Amino acid sequence: MKLQRRIYPAVILFALMLAADAAAAEPCPGNPNALGTARVLKVEHGRYGTKHFPQTLPLGPREVVLTFDDGPNPPTTSMVLAALARDCVKATFFLIGRHAEAHPDFVRKIAAAGHTIGYHSMTHPMTLVSISYPAAVDNIERGIKAVDKAALPYHAAPFFRFPGFGSSPALLAYMGRKGLAVFGADLWASDWNVMTPQFELSLVMQRLEQAGRGIVLFHDTQMQTARMLPAFLAALKAGGWKVVHVVPARQG
Ligand SMILES: [Zn+2]
Repeated sequence: MKLQRRIYPAVILFALMLAADAAAAEPCPGNPNALGTARVLKVEHGRYGTKHFPQTLPLGPREVVLTFDDGPNPPTTSMVLAALARDCVKATFFLIGRHAEAHPDFVRKIAAAGHTIGYHSMTHPMTLVSISYPAAVDNIERGIKAVDKAALPYHAAPFFRFPGFGSSPALLAYMGRKGLAVFGADLWASDWNVMTPQFELSLVMQRLEQAGRGIVLFHDTQMQTARMLPAFLAALKAGGWKVVHVVPARQG
């Protein structure tokens, strides 16, 4: 009896450990073939994306970070969110302040789904370098405030992407002083050009194969991208690609 008592808690503990392991490896509910999110990467402030900067995120071979710009735009953003949810994939959304102001419910929906939210200015001037420095800073700051307000009770990450990737040394220095990580990209689908979802899929997969890894830029405001996304996630899975979810090393 005494022996049994000693063994019993150990057996329970072992069973709990097994259960915890099983929980960690739990498949995506309702989708046994889901792509899933392979790992979470904590990002410090800095500049990332080889299209614009000398360095990018520390990604392994065939690791990708999915990013979506310019939302929220309810009709297309809802399709993107549904596709990501179906595959248990976490992404990052760089939101335009005035869109966040217009659709705060969608900002919270993105955050509630566990995605990362970053900033993309208030009005998306093309570009922030084409207006004066004080006007650019004002646009950036209003964008941050609008997204922060809409996101509550959730928090945006201290991540910024320049509209049209237009930055200047002075604006980059401003980002550095604010402790914001600046996201460029390593590749994109060129989804600002009109094309069929099928063409966009083949284009982005071809670019991924060339790059081998990286930060991928899409626009969740584009219907062709929203329509393409389920097939894109399936292609990533079939090709052995892994999705990395970026989160802030510290909260903004
Ligand atoms: Zn944009």
